[in-house]
Amino acid sequence: MQAFTDSADVGHFIHGRRVNGTGSRSQAVFNPATGARARKLLLGEPADVEAAVASAQAAFAGWSNTPPIKRARVMLRFLELMNRHRDELAAIITAEHGKVFSDAQGEVARGIDVIEFACGIPQLLKGDYTEQVSTGIDNWTTRQALGVVAGITPFNFPCMVPCWMFPVAIAAGNTFVLKPSERDPSASLFMADLLKQAGLPDGVFNVVQGDKVVVDALLTHPDIKAVSFVGSTPIANYIYETGAKHGKRVQALGGAKNHMVVMPDADLDKSIDALIGAAYGSAGERCMAISVALLVGDVADKIIPRLAERARNLIVKNGMEPDAEMGPIVTRQALERIEGYIAEGVKEGATLVVDGRGLKVPGHEDGFFTGGTLFDNVTPDMRIYKEEIFGPVLACVRVKDFTEAVELINAHEFGNGVACFTRDGHIAREFGRRIEVGMVGINVPIPVPMAWHGFGGWKRSLFGDTHAYGEEGVRFYTKQKSIMQRWPESIEKGAEFAMPTAK
Ligand code: NAD
Repeated sequence: MQAFTDSADVGHFIHGRRVNGTGSRSQAVFNPATGARARKLLLGEPADVEAAVASAQAAFAGWSNTPPIKRARVMLRFLELMNRHRDELAAIITAEHGKVFSDAQGEVARGIDVIEFACGIPQLLKGDYTEQVSTGIDNWTTRQALGVVAGITPFNFPCMVPCWMFPVAIAAGNTFVLKPSERDPSASLFMADLLKQAGLPDGVFNVVQGDKVVVDALLTHPDIKAVSFVGSTPIANYIYETGAKHGKRVQALGGAKNHMVVMPDADLDKSIDALIGAAYGSAGERCMAISVALLVGDVADKIIPRLAERARNLIVKNGMEPDAEMGPIVTRQALERIEGYIAEGVKEGATLVVDGRGLKVPGHEDGFFTGGTLFDNVTPDMRIYKEEIFGPVLACVRVKDFTEAVELINAHEFGNGVACFTRDGHIAREFGRRIEVGMVGINVPIPVPMAWHGFGGWKRSLFGDTHAYGEEGVRFYTKQKSIMQRWPESIEKGAEFAMPTAK
């Protein structure tokens, strides 16, 4: 697969075409593997949000009145185009995010799953119907689109996370404004072009690039009915409060600190594979990455030397190299933050078993690389335990038993994903029942739910009531209407002033 080498400026997509917008501010987009400025991102201004929302608002009447089966057919054509261009999209992701190409292909595949789910929208929008709720009266519910909705997305999945949102929203009859991450904005425009090719009417899908200026214009715009957000917890909290204050429906998915419990009876080879893949895959820049291993009883002594050997030997290089296991970190600032946390962990007294700091990749000396880092003897009072590092750093905590592991997880501020490795069915069952986390894996390290199940954490990992995509997503992007109807015979009786009851 060829690397993505487009050096054009990255602008917006409004009313079916690429535009540069009204602003004069811009920001560099880097190739994290080389450290080079690759493209210039044109940052949007409130006037660009205004233009995108006006276009989406104008498109809403026609699109929401388009029969669901016809909307689904547009999604089917989009699905076909995404499948045809999946590797080009994956190369764009690797070029701006840094993750290895096979991982970028996986991200695209998981995004495509949601598009496929959205193709079933006629079935998903079917309401409930009760004949004869009272004599001559029927009652049914329908779900109708909200209007213009917005999505604000993080850097770590520039294709998959937008796909958690817009395919379901659009298929349900809404029109959409996407504000992608500033770090890797090109995937959004690539998908916008494919939607256009699929026959989506102009204005139904728009992209406004930018920073807080654009986000705030979206959060306060009176014509935006709902906001979906995925990103860090402080911003998720802000989005939830500000959106709600402006009368919007909001789902805001936040950060994580995902634990994996390894019980003494677990298959240790499989547990080690799982920890290495889930801690260091995508350089730990996944909201479902495992960043804490809770090692029960004597497990730590058995596996830490083996984890250390694997972490030391990770193949870290440009993600476009076919044998790369881990690519660079997204930006130099993120790299400095991660390495700062490692220094903090040492200061706090954790045992630094493998130190990934200062890694230089030959031929890529200016790239934003760090190696895999492994800590032992981490304790719950340390910042490296409490806070999200969002990098390739695995913190091992030694616990005496299952109960202590469950208590630690349940006491943590975040509740996105969790895993338990065991061979004991009773332990597995109790874990699933007692754990206060939204997504649970039993012998599965990264339990990202399939497109028809919906994705979401608990506690400060999600602000709002509904999870992303799946049937929860359909509910988020639609409002229920109940219609009760009767016909002439009963109308002849004239007005009734008492509360209607079944007759
Ligand atoms: P981020 O919070 O910095 O940015 C997310 C979005 O918010 C971006 O579009 C950004 O432009 C915007 N934003 C940033 N600062 C803002 C501000 N002050 N005001 C308004 N908008 C602002 O997150 P990120 O660094 O891009 O992504 C990593 C974070 O996302 C991690 O915390 C990770 O756990 C989280 N994440 C969560 C999930 C989930 O499903 N829960 C999935 C992916 C990523």
